[in-house]
This record gives sequence, structure tokens and C-alpha cells, in this order.
Amino acid sequence: KDFRNTVKPNWCPGCGDFSVQAAIQRAAANVGIEPNELAVISGIGCSGRISGYINSYGFHGIHGRALPIAQGLKMANRDLHVIASGGDGDGFAIGMGHTIHAIRRNIDITYIVMDNQIYGLTKGQTSPRSAAGFITKSTPGGAIEPSLKPLEVALTSGATFVAQGFSTDIKELTALIEAGINHKGFSFINVFSPCVTYNKVNTYDWFKENLTKLADVEGYDQSDRGMAMRTVMEHEGLVTGIIYHDTETRSYQEKVPGYSELPLTDIDIKMSENDFNDLIKEFM
Ligand code: SF4
Repeated sequence: KDFRNTVKPNWCPGCGDFSVQAAIQRAAANVGIEPNELAVISGIGCSGRISGYINSYGFHGIHGRALPIAQGLKMANRDLHVIASGGDGDGFAIGMGHTIHAIRRNIDITYIVMDNQIYGLTKGQTSPRSAAGFITKSTPGGAIEPSLKPLEVALTSGATFVAQGFSTDIKELTALIEAGINHKGFSFINVFSPCVTYNKVNTYDWFKENLTKLADVEGYDQSDRGMAMRTVMEHEGLVTGIIYHDTETRSYQEKVPGYSELPLTDIDIKMSENDFNDLIKEFM
């Protein structure tokens, strides 16, 4: 079960995305699946390249649209483990509509956001996750808007699994991804993955100084949505660990009447050419 391939990532040396790649590879091996049982679907951005760097099925999609592809894939083949991934610009700007609806829909896939609070591929513009006052080429006077709060959005959108990691802590990140893959429903994992080239504010050292591990918060109960929300807000979103885990709500697939027990590709659809032509006519 080796999820490494021979493609050399072209991320900048020191980019946080290397650790996310390694954590996905380790987590997939730890849950005991084979490379042909995993599909990694990515959006656009530096992080979007990850689907080409893992020995599994992969699809490098379009900007903000990794989730529709990933959900469709899972609905067509329940046997595949599906990971969608992308950056904060991809998932929280152009893709935000998909993100919220995928969270509330609760299809059994894992969504990993590599959150570096900036647009890296397009050379350093303010993203929805940049803090107010953040200075870039697109906001030379400092960002006016406050940053989007993905954990609060996920918790209030009905998420059944919410976690957050930091890319230098590969051990914790691997455990979070493993738990996300094993979760029976939509698992949302936000990862602080520093952009060493364009974000000189939210650096590795900055995160080390500001992050709190939920494992160190006394009495923290990951099954309590209210406690999760209060704790996230008290720490201004700067926590790592499993933030919320609902083990009882059934996934979308489990609720769909007649959801195929077989992957669609294994179903023998007997259809003559005439039947097919009649079907096509209905859509014309
Ligand atoms: Fe990583 Fe930033 Fe370089 Fe992109 S520009 S590869 S996010 S360090």
C-alpha cells in the first residue's frame, strides 16, 4: 500500500502542502485501503496539484469545483474512498456555494482545505481567509473585510465531522485525515498550510505561537456542537484537533431510497440503440 508516486511536486521548497501530501499518503495506508480504492479530486491553485502527486486515481478539476466532481464520483461508486482538496481561495471564494451545500448534504467523502490565507498560484493576492489589514498587491492599503471563518461556517451548516490541522504536525494531521476517511459522512478538514513565498505574516512560527491543541483543552467534548462553537470562537479559530464529530447522523447515501449497492460501472444496463436514441430525444 504505497501511495507515493514518482512525480516530483513543483511547490516552493518549504511550502506547507508537502506535509499535507505526506499526511494523506500515510492516512490512506493506515486505514488499509489500496491505491485503486482511493480517488483524490482537486481544484485549482498550488494545492490543486496534489491530485497528481498521490498514487491513486486523481482528477485535477476546475476552480472551486472539486466538490461537485467528488460527490458525483462517490454517488456513482460507493466502493471508492474519495478525498477532495484545494486551497482557501478555491473552496471559500469561488467554491463556497459548493462547500456549504456539500457540508449539509453529508455525502461520505473527505474535504481537505490547504488554508494559507492567500492566493499563491496567482502570486500573492488577498484571499477570503486573509485577516483584515492584510497587505498584498490586491490590497495595498490593507484588507478591509474580515476573514471568513470556515470552522464556524461548517459547524452552523450542519457538518458531521469538523477538524483542523497544521502542516508541520504530520502525526496529528495524519490522525485527523484517518478519522475523516473513517467517518461515515462528509468530513471537513481545514489545514493551516503556510505559503512561504507570499504570506510573510502567517508563518510557521506565527502558527506555533498562536495555535492551541484541543487535546490540551480540559473537558473538551468533540460530540458537543455548542462547546465546539464556543471554543472555536474563544480561540479565534486557532485550534487543532477534531473539533466536532457526530457519529449518529446517517450519510446522504444511507438516506437515498434505492441507492445502488453496486458501483454504476458494474451494473449491466441493457439498452438497445433505439432505447438510447429515445432517451436522448427526451433531453433535446
Ligand atoms: Fe506553496 Fe506559496 Fe509556493 Fe504556492 S506560492 S507552492 S502556496 S509556497
